[in-house]
Amino acid sequence: MCGIVGFCGNKQAAPILLDGLSKLEYRGYDSAGLAVRDGSAQVQIVKAKGRLKELYAKTNGGQSLIGTCGIGHTRWATHGEPSDVNAHPHYNKNKNIVVVHNGIIENYLKLKQKLEKKGYEFVSETDTEVLAHLLDYYYQGNPLQAITKVMHRVEGSYALGIMFQDHPDELYAVRKDSPLIVGETENGCVIASDVPA
Ligand code: GLU
Repeated sequence: MCGIVGFCGNKQAAPILLDGLSKLEYRGYDSAGLAVRDGSAQVQIVKAKGRLKELYAKTNGGQSLIGTCGIGHTRWATHGEPSDVNAHPHYNKNKNIVVVHNGIIENYLKLKQKLEKKGYEFVSETDTEVLAHLLDYYYQGNPLQAITKVMHRVEGSYALGIMFQDHPDELYAVRKDSPLIVGETENGCVIASDVPA
């Protein structure tokens, strides 16, 4: 289990997310990623295997990702090798639902097989990707309704940061048996898997 940081407010998100992730480096990780969006424009996702400095380099310190709402993740792989593809965030086919996850989805294989039968295609080897497609399956415009249905289906421990493209400037945070905290500042809201971030 590794790190989650999310920010939604009136400042550029990417530098804040990178800074938060750097405060969680002490936990160890094998890859990292960011998803940032500007209003209802399509989300931009950048991932990098290895150290956080790779993600800093790929995003010019966060400057190349424009938007005031985003989620970031440092991964400690449990399902699927450390790689760019397996790094979080994960997303549905249209990239309008984006998820970061700490923890393990115990019944992911069963859910994955069911979703594949319904035509969902998986690109990663992670347990996490099942969450993105399951949210897609249940999503009919109401994020809380879809998230609640997903929580009833998945078994395991999780802290999640989720963004829905058609709900700009909103960030959804979910947790069960994994830490996640919510903070409010004068510049916006923050979620984090640990206090230093
Ligand atoms: N189980 C997930 C994965 O392997 C999340 C790991 C984590 O908590 O960093 O991608």
